[in-house]
Amino acid sequence: MKAVRLYGPGDLRVIELPVPEIGDGEILVRVKAALICGTDIRMWKNGSGVMPVTLGHEMAGTIERIGVSVRGYYVGQAVAVAPNFGCGTCDACVAGAGQHCPQLKALGIHLDGGFAEFLRVPAAAVAQGNVAPIEVGRGTSFPEAALAEPLSCVYNSFERAHLKPGDSVLVIGAGPIGLLHAKLYALAGAGLVMIHDLNEGRLEACATQDPRFVAIGRDGVAERVGELTRGRGADVIVTAASSAAAQALSFSLAALDARVIFFGGLAAGKEVVGLDTNVIHYKQITVTGTTRQSLPQYRRCLGLICGGTLPVAGVITASYPLEDAALAFEAAARGEGLKSGFLMSGDSEGQGSGGLLGGQS
Ligand SMILES: [Zn+2]
Ligand SMILES: [Zn+2]
Repeated sequence: MKAVRLYGPGDLRVIELPVPEIGDGEILVRVKAALICGTDIRMWKNGSGVMPVTLGHEMAGTIERIGVSVRGYYVGQAVAVAPNFGCGTCDACVAGAGQHCPQLKALGIHLDGGFAEFLRVPAAAVAQGNVAPIEVGRGTSFPEAALAEPLSCVYNSFERAHLKPGDSVLVIGAGPIGLLHAKLYALAGAGLVMIHDLNEGRLEACATQDPRFVAIGRDGVAERVGELTRGRGADVIVTAASSAAAQALSFSLAALDARVIFFGGLAAGKEVVGLDTNVIHYKQITVTGTTRQSLPQYRRCLGLICGGTLPVAGVITASYPLEDAALAFEAAARGEGLKSGFLMSGDSEGQGSGGLLGGQS
């Protein structure tokens, strides 16, 4: 099978590998779609703790083979696979937050992931429910189902915002993560969804996805937010960008009792930021952050996508075959379009569901 593997910083190779063997408790998934994320780009540039490794942690496909002790799944079943799994027995895992397990493992980071024709899902991940059946029937595609991973990271952040109906929301950063935030807040009853970015092209691409979104460009940000909120500032502000400047900006645009969420972490060595803490005091704002997602959040987001509640088709703007990994990574690193990924047609094997989850570009 073909796989996109990272061997070192900047050293990404498309190679042939044997199709993985699976053990008793494991599942082999035929990957239909796997999306590229900022984490993949960072790993490509900086290298990673485990190498070589097949990248890709946002994926969906069909079950190809099932270990003899696995129950509840069938061959040919459409599934999305959550990448993170814990030990299963520590307090975090038992609380349903395996993403915080001290022994966390992630497909595509510590173990081979979804940028390949086949993905082996280890027994611990199968047992914890990382393989999530996709409900077929509302025209959802495999790439859209793969968006359950980034969407559930966004959902984790969203839950901390304690959105009230009619709240004004400002999303700083018009990448795919910013767009997913904007879509979720609009769905959940925000009265105003503002998106701010310095990159006019990206801002335009995001803002045109929903007539309710208000784009705010480089100039006069404070004035625009002031006009739109009648001088109050935003009730919820999300920094969907790895930027200290965005964090500082968020404080200055916050309304009384605002919730400010630092979604994007900062690069190592740049994480100490001067912030006006009197804003927290006098405006009584809540500042928080989130990382990754729980499995319940993953399943919930998969339901939002596959049930048609949250249309996400516009988030994916480019798809490539695995062979074009270098092109795909370079385009993603340049910030071209929004979300991109790999689409495996499976045509060479005469496979393909032919149904609504059949791949699309
Ligand atoms: Zn990701
Ligand atoms: Zn654990």
